[in-house]
Amino acid sequence: MSEGLVSAAYIVAALLFILSLAGLAKQETAQKGCYAGMAGMSIALIATILSPSTGGIIFIIIAMIVGGGIGWKLAQKVEMTEMPELVAILHSFVGLAAVLVGYNSYLDHGVLIGAMKNIHLVEVFLGVFIGSVTFTGSIVAFAKLRGLISSTALMLPHRHKMNLAALVVSAWLMVSFVEQGGSIGLLIVMTIIAFAFGYHLVASIGGADMPVVVSMLNSYSGWAAAAAGFMLSNDLLIVTGALVGSSGAILSYIMCTAMNRSFISVIAGGFGNDVVASSGDEEQGEHTTTTADEVADMLLTANRVIITPGYGMAVAQAQYPVHEITQKLRDKGIEVRFGIHPVAGRLPGHMNVLLAEAKVPYDIVMEMDEINEDFSDTDVVLVIGANDTVNPAAKEPGSPITGMPVLEVWDAKNVIVFKRGMATGYAGVQNPLFFKDNTKMLFGDAKESVEQILKAM
Ligand code: NDP
Repeated sequence: MSEGLVSAAYIVAALLFILSLAGLAKQETAQKGCYAGMAGMSIALIATILSPSTGGIIFIIIAMIVGGGIGWKLAQKVEMTEMPELVAILHSFVGLAAVLVGYNSYLDHGVLIGAMKNIHLVEVFLGVFIGSVTFTGSIVAFAKLRGLISSTALMLPHRHKMNLAALVVSAWLMVSFVEQGGSIGLLIVMTIIAFAFGYHLVASIGGADMPVVVSMLNSYSGWAAAAAGFMLSNDLLIVTGALVGSSGAILSYIMCTAMNRSFISVIAGGFGNDVVASSGDEEQGEHTTTTADEVADMLLTANRVIITPGYGMAVAQAQYPVHEITQKLRDKGIEVRFGIHPVAGRLPGHMNVLLAEAKVPYDIVMEMDEINEDFSDTDVVLVIGANDTVNPAAKEPGSPITGMPVLEVWDAKNVIVFKRGMATGYAGVQNPLFFKDNTKMLFGDAKESVEQILKAM
């Protein structure tokens, strides 16, 4: 393949990536967006492999077969609820790749002099720095999402000063690195600092802010890829990295706005959020339980019903019987709508994907802001496996989720909470909703409970 043809293929691939992002912006076109992305990536891979500047094709093909095989196997096994962990671990690979490309580029850069050499050294230094932060930060995010380490924020004394010191020392190391014409010792010291910085940055962010962390790491992985693109002089990698980096940054900003968090404070490792989760598992009064038969009667005599799903619905895979209940009630003329919190579940848009999968009509699936004022006019709210996103503690000072907008389900006449026990949600905060007079707990696996209600109806 000639250089010209490779460049043309790269332009087509870049356009397909842009079309892919545009498609992913809407549920109805998301599948087409995925296909455009897959086509773009295939073109990019073929053009890169067949490019005249690519050597050792046999090794690349072996690596692709091994990597592709592992990816294929894992993708078949992975549950929808494990997607955020998968995304986090994939981000760590991008970070590690940027570190390795950086070291490779440092060791094997040919003959460079003057300004070109300095530019190259800065590229290497920044690429390794961003890659290292992304690598360890993503591993911590993976461990938190998988429950391997606690989701609560690590509160080391002077943690913000430590973060600032890591940044200042790294900046000073970069200047020295360039001045000395590239010393491997300084590069290694910075890599160790950046690994520790990435670890600490994500470890000090609490459970409720994890959605922002996931999208922020998405953004970092894009910038790490763009940095690798500069080091490899690969235009497509620069464009793709910039697309991922900027779309991840926009998503992080949207998530922060939705959660009433300051973007800067979250990316600075929870700066200004020094509240420790104190309420933990402590109960806050008496809770009342109910039965599937009782809930079925309540639903059949209601005029207006709102369903607010959360992570537990995904775990139980309850979306299909939930759709059946919805249809049954709508057939009887009862109004049923869904209230979706922007961070419900474990990945952006998690609930929308599950409900679309179960063929729930889009027009009854409302965003939090569209439905929050309607709870007071609602007869029954079914809180299916949601916890943090319906927690009134967010309205009180002194909680780790203070200030986060929540679905104000407690304003409804009756609230039914589907969960297995009194455990806290992901943020580790007990939920006063469970102890309110108009709330009843329906204990058990959400799918089984919904199926029992269906039977009773
Ligand atoms: P939560 O994680 O707060 O709560 C889920 C509840 O579901 C738990 O209390 C659990 O209680 C219950 N549950 C679990 N399994 C089942 C089951 N099989 N049947 C019935 N209930 C079950 O969920 P939310 O969706 O309300 O909130 C999401 C949280 O995750 C927020 O804190 C958000 O910040 C965070 N997060 C969100 C991300 C995103 O991008 N959306 C990414 C990372 C984190 P029990 O064990 O008692 O059954």
